[in-house]
Amino acid sequence: MSNSGSVRAVAIRPDQPHTVHPVSLQLYTPGPGQVEIDVVRVGVCGTDREIIAGEIGFPPLGLDELVIGHEVVGRVTAVGSSVNDIAVGDLVTVTVRRPDDCAACRSGEPDMCTEHRYVERGIAGAHGFMAERVIEDEEWVIKVPDRLEPIAVLTEPLTVVEKAVRQARLIQRRLNTWEPKTAVVLGAGPIGLLGTMLLRSQGIDVYTAARTPAPNPAATLVEACGATYVSTRDTPLLDVAAGLPRIDIVLECSGASRLMLDGMDILGNNGVMVLLSLTPEHDLAEAPVGRINRSM
Ligand SMILES: [Zn+2]
Repeated sequence: MSNSGSVRAVAIRPDQPHTVHPVSLQLYTPGPGQVEIDVVRVGVCGTDREIIAGEIGFPPLGLDELVIGHEVVGRVTAVGSSVNDIAVGDLVTVTVRRPDDCAACRSGEPDMCTEHRYVERGIAGAHGFMAERVIEDEEWVIKVPDRLEPIAVLTEPLTVVEKAVRQARLIQRRLNTWEPKTAVVLGAGPIGLLGTMLLRSQGIDVYTAARTPAPNPAATLVEACGATYVSTRDTPLLDVAAGLPRIDIVLECSGASRLMLDGMDILGNNGVMVLLSLTPEHDLAEAPVGRINRSM
């Protein structure tokens, strides 16, 4: 690899909160099997907020700083030798996690990693994509149709809900028949909204519950895709659920421990609930566990 100059990037010091600052990185010409990408857009999500607050994240081995950014869309500007499926000019996104050597990772399912020794670009042990240009192995680069450029930066968060619904359907193969008709999505942040859209695209009636009363931008998006927005400040979730048909799927995307428990309470017979949010570690709550258990 040879030096092809420097690029500007945005970094933090994981050992100190709120240290977002510009840095200059050396960039190398892509080596064999590598791709150089001109970054078009980088998303910022709750994970970035936690990294910036110093709650999670660590720099590459031997460094003090971590370049953030793990949601990306960019345009390929150069390819190394023996790159076969990616060409200069392609619009691409890049996956985040690089597997460790656990059985799940070795089997090609790093999302199911059991040892958590993996590396994640922009989060854990590898620089992210909030830079003018990045280099990546072709293996982790995914082509995106040009017409999706304005929204392709949402590919990474979309994979979260795609995985959730896929896993729900895989689990439900335990049943001879399962045709989900009604879903409740808890939370209307980016993950809740993408989950709402995904379930709607599968023809499922979706009720998306969040605290903030409508009208608000999230409620507008929920209604625009044919789902129903419910404010839990106006109507408690249990009261909302009492007026619905049997709830086949609950996607918990709120980060609120109370809603996580209520989600178990409202789930219908033979339903499946997917826990997608990170709730505060030290939350305590009382729950009607007897009723929850009896109704499952
Ligand atoms: Zn692993």
